[in-house]
Amino acid sequence: MNTRVVELLGLKSPAGVHPPSQKLAATTRIEFAPLPDSAILPLQQHIGAPAKAVVKKGDKVKVGQVIAEASGFVSAPIHATISGIVKQLATVASPVTGHPVSGVIIESDGKDEWIELTPADPEALSKEEVLTRVKDAGIVGMGGATFPTHVKLSPPPEKSIKSIIVNGAECEPYITADDRLMLEETDRILRGLKTMMQVLSVKRAYIAIEENKPQAIARMRQAVTESSLPGEVEVVAVPAKYPMGAEKTLVKAILGVEVPEGGLPMDVGALVQNVATLAAVYDAVALGKPLVERVVTVTGLVSEPKNLLVRFGTAALQLIELCGGIPPEADEMIFGGPMMGIAQVSYDAPIIKGTNCVLVKQSDIRVEHSCIRCGRCIESCPMDLMPLMYVNYVKRGAYESLSDYHITNCVECGACVYNCPANIPIVSYIKIGKTELQKQGEK
Ligand code: SF4
Ligand code: SF4
Repeated sequence: MNTRVVELLGLKSPAGVHPPSQKLAATTRIEFAPLPDSAILPLQQHIGAPAKAVVKKGDKVKVGQVIAEASGFVSAPIHATISGIVKQLATVASPVTGHPVSGVIIESDGKDEWIELTPADPEALSKEEVLTRVKDAGIVGMGGATFPTHVKLSPPPEKSIKSIIVNGAECEPYITADDRLMLEETDRILRGLKTMMQVLSVKRAYIAIEENKPQAIARMRQAVTESSLPGEVEVVAVPAKYPMGAEKTLVKAILGVEVPEGGLPMDVGALVQNVATLAAVYDAVALGKPLVERVVTVTGLVSEPKNLLVRFGTAALQLIELCGGIPPEADEMIFGGPMMGIAQVSYDAPIIKGTNCVLVKQSDIRVEHSCIRCGRCIESCPMDLMPLMYVNYVKRGAYESLSDYHITNCVECGACVYNCPANIPIVSYIKIGKTELQKQGEK
């Protein structure tokens, strides 16, 4: 095993943009957020089928108790994140789509009483036992994708995984949750990686960190050198360029190969896992701890940006108040970063598994102009696409032509929007185009 910082010379560095990094909370240590008086838990916090409630109004629950079961292979259970009483099975707004979804509201008893956890030695567990622990803990991709981790760890036999790419790029402006996790919880991340390498019999891993995080790079390199990881693990300093943290961009930058259109990293023998997901895998496998909390960066116009360890279901407003409250000039709150984040309809929106950041900001309403065919969107696209053609075809309703321009390869990163002088919300057109194409395919 060795470590090195790889200069990506000789490999094709994907295109992208350089928005101001604004990592306001980069030097702020992770703090515990107080437990909420009530937790609002949507049952759709992951890609796939929503979980199905298994509790009813009035039930007493402990932290870590399953309150909703996975309802298929591509699904994940939801656990109580505070102890108390189930106050209501309600319809709540999804922080991801804004649409109404089923949810469970728990009222706290103030005791923070946990279920009994069952620790284990990860090395003494079979592959099936590890996968069961990951699945039962409700772990999903915590970089924002929220794909159930047990599914990613169960590739079909014909897709053998040769290398794991640990995603510590954190390329979105403002967000520092993963950076702090790499500095403060290095050991948990590497133990999670070790388990994944053993489960998949992988001998090669790369820990990808943007070069503007020198402390995290140094910390990881030192920890890797001192660890007993089963294979060759490299800490790779990738260019600080948005969207370096997108799965397909990382695969291209590190392995020098492109994931085929409509495909997954496993199609080129790679598995990409976010650092927070690896820490959660360690918690689940070694400690028997379900996923009930995560680190969230609360930042933007707040007076004291922070990285907070937050139980799911906590209202964003409670966190914003810990960081100085909502300043008068702010009129928008986003979950995630400014490039791909999702504007929330209420400051009471609950933190869920995929929420890595609460960004308090001023809304940025721009007038859309006509395309001037400058080509800047093409230059900025990390997937070598022609974004202007999507705008053109969607405006004309010529959805069938979108496939000719490989629209399904778009990762919706927004780099094209950032660079567009005509303020065209290109990603909105792309989303419409993808939806319409899918409808046509279903007919
Ligand atoms: S960047 Fe905007 S204006 Fe320029 S070609 Fe692309 S869509 Fe048109
Ligand atoms: S077309 Fe898609 S992948 Fe390319 S820059 Fe725009 S949003 Fe990103």
